[in-house]
Amino acid sequence: MVLTNARVIDGTGAAPVERGSVRIEDGRIVEIAPDRILDGDGAIDLAGRTVMPGLIDAHAHLSSDISRSPGFGPPPALKGELPRPRELGYFVLAKTAWVLLAAGITSIRDVGSYDDEAIALREAVRLGIVPGPRILSCGRIISATAPGGAIFTTMYREADGADDMRRAVREQLRRGADFVKLMATGARSVLAEDPEPAQMTFAELEAIVDEAHRLGVRVAAHVEGLAGARIAVEAGVDTVEHGLSLHREPGLLDAMAASGIVLVPTLSTFHDLAERFTDAFAPALVEQAKRQLEEAYATLVAARAAGVTLAMGHDSGPPGENAIELVRMVDGGLTPLEGIAAATRGSAVALGLADVGTLLPGAVADVLVVDGDPLADIRVLLAPERISMVIQGGKTVAARGALTTA
Ligand SMILES: [Zn+2]
Repeated sequence: MVLTNARVIDGTGAAPVERGSVRIEDGRIVEIAPDRILDGDGAIDLAGRTVMPGLIDAHAHLSSDISRSPGFGPPPALKGELPRPRELGYFVLAKTAWVLLAAGITSIRDVGSYDDEAIALREAVRLGIVPGPRILSCGRIISATAPGGAIFTTMYREADGADDMRRAVREQLRRGADFVKLMATGARSVLAEDPEPAQMTFAELEAIVDEAHRLGVRVAAHVEGLAGARIAVEAGVDTVEHGLSLHREPGLLDAMAASGIVLVPTLSTFHDLAERFTDAFAPALVEQAKRQLEEAYATLVAARAAGVTLAMGHDSGPPGENAIELVRMVDGGLTPLEGIAAATRGSAVALGLADVGTLLPGAVADVLVVDGDPLADIRVLLAPERISMVIQGGKTVAARGALTTA
């Protein structure tokens, strides 16, 4: 396959190539030819369009994001209906997978779902049962015993003390996890948790990082307040999720930049709690979220200035509208080119995947073709009808917001 006569954005943050061509063979990118129109068998003329890597969402909750997506799942049950089978949820998960793919999300990192549902969906996609993005799952989130455990039930594995933390890491690998997620602080969505102090001790957090790294998997840390940020960075986690307080201590951002710790700012989740679902949360949490929203944007700017690798994490719903997070990162101060680099290579770095997220030779051919120029108007990525083609591993899998059978 040859995509030709297009604007090409390679995902590294490099300037775009005009009238470029991308050659794909055996599911991989083999060549980007600048300022050359290639023709011949299989060449697709893409005048007026942009070729870029598929988007990667580095922070999703594949099952619970549906509860943040009014209208996406089944309609609410009416009184008098028989109880619905819980297995209906698996069909909704399958829909989630194909909607994500049709929107141009070719990889996604699940940072916590109930009952190992993300692992089930990952396997369904991997085995070719349903179309969907490449999925990485953390298994269950490792948390100290905390109020959040009473709310998030089977999404959590509560653990206390360094040895139990090591055991919790091993259990997630036994479940089939691709990486480990921990709660360095409490969560803004839990009234009984103060997100400011660290929720586990340094010794506990360090035990998780040491065990995970010893066994060859990465660590994502949920971080809100500064005390949790300090111990997470010091222990050497791989990604900081949310991290909204970091602007208050720029030295931590410098340390993250120096050691390659990725920040996933998740702006959308703060918009959700502060603006979108205000009726659904306790008023004190909504007020807290308004302050956190401002802090999250301040941290985005400070992290960019410090040279921290940024990744795109929607942490919201509905599935398929993930690129709103990219738009918000641009509204918050990234250039469109920087935003796209965050949502492609930056997110790939967060996932620990070296061969996706760019169009460099050798990369897996996960490619998005957009009608128009996202560098001129980043919002074209939000319009399903502007998603001309989604290519996964060299095969065209979707066009104009719908799956293709080709
Ligand atoms: Zn989250």
